[in-house]
Amino acid sequence: MTQPAIYYFDNNATTRVAPEVVDAMIPFLREQWGNPSSTYAFGRQVGEHVDQARARVAALINAEPREVIFTSCGTESNNSAIHSALATQPDKRHVLTTAVEHSANTNFCALLQKRGYTVTFLPVTPDGALDLQQLEAAIRPDTAIVSVMWANNETGILFPVREIAAICRRKGTLFHTDAVQTPGKLKIDVRELDVDFLSLSAHKLHAPKGIGLLYVKRRVKYQPYIVGGGQERGRRGGTENVASIVGFGRAAELAMASLPDEHTRARALRDRLEDGILAAMPGTSRNGAKEPRLPNTSNLAFEGVEAEGILMLLDQAGICASSGSACTTGSLDPSHVLTAMGCSVARARSSIRFSLGIYNTEAEVDYVLKHLPGIIAKLRANSPMG
Ligand SMILES: *Cc1c(COP(=O)(O)O)cnc(C)c1O
Repeated sequence: MTQPAIYYFDNNATTRVAPEVVDAMIPFLREQWGNPSSTYAFGRQVGEHVDQARARVAALINAEPREVIFTSCGTESNNSAIHSALATQPDKRHVLTTAVEHSANTNFCALLQKRGYTVTFLPVTPDGALDLQQLEAAIRPDTAIVSVMWANNETGILFPVREIAAICRRKGTLFHTDAVQTPGKLKIDVRELDVDFLSLSAHKLHAPKGIGLLYVKRRVKYQPYIVGGGQERGRRGGTENVASIVGFGRAAELAMASLPDEHTRARALRDRLEDGILAAMPGTSRNGAKEPRLPNTSNLAFEGVEAEGILMLLDQAGICASSGSACTTGSLDPSHVLTAMGCSVARARSSIRFSLGIYNTEAEVDYVLKHLPGIIAKLRANSPMG
C-alpha cells in the first residue's frame, strides 16, 4: 500500500526516524539480540554498543557518558529528576516550576500536590517570558528543585536556562531543565549551562519513540524512579532497550554533524512560512515573542476560526499540523500554554502550531502557503461569527 503524500509540519510532536538510524538499529533486532548484562561474549558485545551510544549522546550534550541515564521517554526523565530531588532531600517539600511546561512535568507536579507537596507554577508574560526576579524570590528554603523547560514545545519560546541555573546555584537549589525540544535545533552544553538534570527524548530527534535520557551531573545525589536490576549503574532498573539506544546514539551523531546548517535552514523555512501567512492573511498573528525562539516553530492565531476546523481541512490537503501539544489534543481544554500567556480562550482555540524539521522543503512550505488562505476563507465564510 502506498501512502498518499504528506506534508509534515508537526516535528515538535514527533519526527520521522532517519533511515541511517533504522540501519544502525536493525542488527540489534535481527542478530545481536543478547542481553548487555550477560557475562558471555554474545551479551557483552551488545553492551559495548550500548556504551558507544552512551558516549555519542553524552557528546551531543557535552556530558561524561556516566552522567547519562537511559530512560523510556522524556516523560520518565522529567518525572525521575523531580522524584529524585524530593527523595534525596526528604525535608524539602516544595517544587518550583512554570505554568507553561509540557504535561510530562505539569501533570506530575499536580500529582505531587495531591500527595501533599507544595508546587509553585510561575506565570509568564504575554510574550511568553519569565520574570527572573520573581523566580528568584519564589525559591524557598524548602525548595527541593526548580524545573524550567528550555524550549517550549507549543510556542518555541526559549527560557534563559543558563541564568536560571546560576540563580539556583546561588540559592543552593537543584535545577532541572526539560530540553526535549532543543537537540538538532540548539547547541547543548551541560557544562556551560551548569544544570543538575537535563531531559531529552529520542523521538524528537529522528530516533524511535520509547527512548530518552536523563543527564545527572556528577556528584549530584540520585535516587532511581524505576527500581529493579542494577542496569544504568543502579540508577534505572530494566533491561536496556538496546536497538533504540543504538538508534538514539546514531541520531545524536547525525544531529551534531548537521547542527549549524540545519539551524539556519529550518529558520529560513519557518520564516518563509510564518511571514508568508502573516503577510497574506488578515486576522492572523503570532503567539508570543518572535525571539528568543526555536528556529523551527511557529504558533499562529487565526481570528474567528476554530483550530479544529483548520486542522481538519489541512488534513484533507495532506498537511499535518497541530493545535496545542499532541498530548492534550482530543481534549476540549484550550492550550494551558497559550492561556498562561494571557490569550483568551477564543484565541487559544484559534491557534495552530507548525513545527518544521530536517526533511521539510521550500516546495512543501509553498504548498501550505498556497492552500491555507482558501481554507481560512472557507471557514470564516461558514463561521457563525463571520
Ligand atoms: C515530547 C515532549 C516531552 C515528552 O517526551 P516523550 O518522550 O514523548 O515522553 C516532554 N517535554 C517536551 C518539551 C516535549 O516536547
